[in-house]
Amino acid sequence: MANHRRISIITGIIFLGLLLLLLFPLFSQKGCPEGTGYSNPLFSQKGCPEGTGYSNPFFHKRGVPKGRSILTPFLIKGVATKLTGYLIKSRRRVEEFFPGTNQEVKVYSIFGKRKGPTLLVFGGIQGDEPGGYLAADRYVGLNLKKGNLIVVPRLNLAAILAQKREGLTGDMNRKFALPKNIQQDPDIKVVNLARDLIANADYILNLHQGSGFYSPIWINHQRNPLRWGQCNVIDAFVFDLPNGERLELESFAQNVVRRINSKIQDENYHFLVNNTNTGDKKSLHKEQRKSLTYYALTQKHKIALGIEVTKKCSSPQAVAYLSIAINSVLKELGIAPEEFPGEDPDSIAEELKKNEKFSGLKVKINGCEKLIIPGQNIFLKIGEPLQILNLETEKSRGWYVNLVNSGSYNALGQTYWFTKDNKLLIHKDGKLIASFEIMPRSYLLGSLEVNLDGRVCRFHNQETILLPKNGRLRILKVYPEKDKNKVKVNLKGFIGNKGYNDGEDSGYVISADDLIPKYALDYPENTFYRIEISEQGNLVGEVFLKLT
Ligand SMILES: [Zn+2]
Repeated sequence: MANHRRISIITGIIFLGLLLLLLFPLFSQKGCPEGTGYSNPLFSQKGCPEGTGYSNPFFHKRGVPKGRSILTPFLIKGVATKLTGYLIKSRRRVEEFFPGTNQEVKVYSIFGKRKGPTLLVFGGIQGDEPGGYLAADRYVGLNLKKGNLIVVPRLNLAAILAQKREGLTGDMNRKFALPKNIQQDPDIKVVNLARDLIANADYILNLHQGSGFYSPIWINHQRNPLRWGQCNVIDAFVFDLPNGERLELESFAQNVVRRINSKIQDENYHFLVNNTNTGDKKSLHKEQRKSLTYYALTQKHKIALGIEVTKKCSSPQAVAYLSIAINSVLKELGIAPEEFPGEDPDSIAEELKKNEKFSGLKVKINGCEKLIIPGQNIFLKIGEPLQILNLETEKSRGWYVNLVNSGSYNALGQTYWFTKDNKLLIHKDGKLIASFEIMPRSYLLGSLEVNLDGRVCRFHNQETILLPKNGRLRILKVYPEKDKNKVKVNLKGFIGNKGYNDGEDSGYVISADDLIPKYALDYPENTFYRIEISEQGNLVGEVFLKLT
């Protein structure tokens, strides 16, 4: 009997070991590779974005060993699929290049459950064409049943933040013929990143918003061969490869156009194929020889389309047309998401509005976390560190915190010390959503001093204390100090003196469990409470308490 049990234990251990071995390739895959095989020294700093909304268990914040190729995930996935079959899920990875700068580029890779082609989508190469990055942004969270998707919603962040075609130095879409190691151009590191991504994809889309409407013949000022709106741009009808094969760009673009137009009722907005015949002596668009798509075609031998949607429509409508176009390309390539992003402009309008909602800035001052809501100032003592922790938004993508006069466009996560007044600007892409004055002072007047988990913190009128679930709060005193008998601090929903509720809550150790939910300001969540500060019965200030 004992022997039998021992055998079954040993069998169990062996089975468990095998199972772990099988699963190892899945879980060892890191989400945010550092040095993903890019030998370019410019790609030195990468990290993983905080709060990118990825709850995917395959998304990790650790790096992977240097020297791992960008293709490794595909290889690992291939092995893992063979070993574990149906166990594997669609996976995602986020890579962040040049983080914290106004050239930050986030690359979102989605690997399908089954093998298929890899489509690379670029948005935001020019900053005054918001349709591109807003549309691309809708694809980063997909799960794929088949094929792979690499999405770069914001290739040229400096241009997007400036809301201009050109970013740091000129049009990025005219830099793909420049030598890789050119020193003078700060954009070249981003261009080189795009080049490396192109090398690892099968098909490429560059999303644009163009003026008017493209037409192969002159119809009017708005609809003619020099306009760009509503077309799929190709650089040649066909491209002959050195090995004798041909890339059939036209037939691919035509198939996509047929799919797109079947979804668009208004014929005025139908798409056409626009062959710029870029390499030809008689080309109307010789400038395109410096473009991303021409580079992809002629240097990397990839089918690359420029998708141009007209600027003569609303932003949600432009995003809808681009989504129709991307969905059409996915269908044409057999890349299968579990669900395609929607194409209805009204729902997209709602979605875009929701993505611009901003309810506050989470900061840490001298180690104390607080929430600053729009309209408030940030007070701190000179010498106190201020860390920008988080933005309270629906989605984290496209949000940037600019610390004025610092050159810091991406102040999120950073810590600063101030001796002079300054300002934080909160942008959703190029749009200014809120601003906060930073006021360092030698003396801070009008504040409530509390002990938050062992740390003494001050909160000013209308600021919000963030109390963690297991945290402890003790109200210490009111500044400037007044006669104790005249000033009362009353946390609504907390009873300090159980024998006689005198509305004075200073001195007690308070935790989330001590609060009476019916006093919460945010029924039914019951996480938000009010602390009233009164002097001789008159309300002189209030501080809020949020359970986190
Ligand atoms: Zn463009």
